[in-house]
Amino acid sequence: MNIDEILECDRAHVWHPYASIESGIKLWNVESANGATIRLSGVGDVIDGMSSWWAVAYGYNNPKINSALISQLGKMSHVMFGGLTHEGAVRLAKRLVSMLPKPLDRVFFCDSGSVSVEVAMKMALQYWHAKGAPEKKKFATIRGGYHGDTWNAMSVCDPVGGMHSMFAGRLPVSFFAPRPKSAFGAPWNADDASSLECLFAQHSADIAAFILEPVVQGAGGMYFYNPRYLTELKALCKKYGVLLIFDEIATGFGRSGRRFACEWAGESPDIMCLGKAITGGYMSFAATIASSELARTISSGSPGLFMHGPTFMANPLACAAANAALDIFENGRVLEDVARIEKALKRGLEPLRGCAKVADVRVLGAIGVVEMKELIDIDKTQRALVERGVWLRPFGKLLYTMPPYVTDDGQLETLTAAMRGVATL
Ligand SMILES: *Cc1c(COP(=O)(O)O)cnc(C)c1O
Repeated sequence: MNIDEILECDRAHVWHPYASIESGIKLWNVESANGATIRLSGVGDVIDGMSSWWAVAYGYNNPKINSALISQLGKMSHVMFGGLTHEGAVRLAKRLVSMLPKPLDRVFFCDSGSVSVEVAMKMALQYWHAKGAPEKKKFATIRGGYHGDTWNAMSVCDPVGGMHSMFAGRLPVSFFAPRPKSAFGAPWNADDASSLECLFAQHSADIAAFILEPVVQGAGGMYFYNPRYLTELKALCKKYGVLLIFDEIATGFGRSGRRFACEWAGESPDIMCLGKAITGGYMSFAATIASSELARTISSGSPGLFMHGPTFMANPLACAAANAALDIFENGRVLEDVARIEKALKRGLEPLRGCAKVADVRVLGAIGVVEMKELIDIDKTQRALVERGVWLRPFGKLLYTMPPYVTDDGQLETLTAAMRGVATL
């Protein structure tokens, strides 16, 4: 197909994320991708400042991940995981457990981030069921979060920015604490602890688990909060008998400047979700990791089984990509690269602070956010960015980037210059 045919056929038959089929919004065709760049038909190479939605951490067409996949293809691309196992899955589980904070040591593989959140929530419900406390069946979270698009994941997304109004009266009802007032790097605001305590005091008898993204809120608003929040929350979860779930799907594997964002607080959850960069962004894959205590409780209760098992659970190709991605993460200079990117993003974006149209500039690890005062015209801004050699996908008032860790200093300068350019248009 030539480009016109591709775009025409797309318009005729394909849905895109959060899109109307009628909007006629501009689409670019991608021919290939390499390192930190994607090649757009009729445009050429542009720097991918999105890492394809946090996923492609180590760059496109990565030789190490490519060769791991090719070698796995020759053995088997898939085999069911019920009653069968394979070395790639077992090795991956062992390696993840060795990196994660204690007591997380039991890995459930699943097919996407949203599913890993569903699995985490189901684990929490089955835990309380096994404990003889079936009334603990609701969930709590903070405002401004994002946990995916499947049903229960949606119910803990931000109720205003998420899809609650669209699905009002149909979604399970969750409890929401305010978004933490204490920003990352700012002094602790005691209101944060008191609003949490208030929620727990009123509702903990009904709550199975508290779920949140540690330190970095992603798609719900690109906001960074004080790690002490997690310490206060963990203490309350203990005091009131509520499980704690950390969603590290976006933040895992170095993005925030630590291996996992919860390391900023030195706190561990009862259940953690990983996804996105787990395969270096090669394919849809995720993991939900629980403590042995939790896993044992579920296994000892009735029915004694954890009731989940996706068709593509522990897919061997995905495990091979994830093991290769972990090799890079363990042996490479990932955290040094993230520190380098953080410096470049600060240098490149700080000059926007105080500009007429800019409300805030925030940088943490390999994440740079320019919050505008007004809603961004996405179509117009994206065209202007592509003209400047950069791929970004702003939403709401947020112009933001989380580039692949392989983005070099020259590319980071192009990226931030483009952001400065469109933020001051
Ligand atoms: C992207 C994301 C999800 C959902 O993952 P999918 O793979 O898109 O289902 C869940 N939680 C967080 C924090 C995310 O960033």
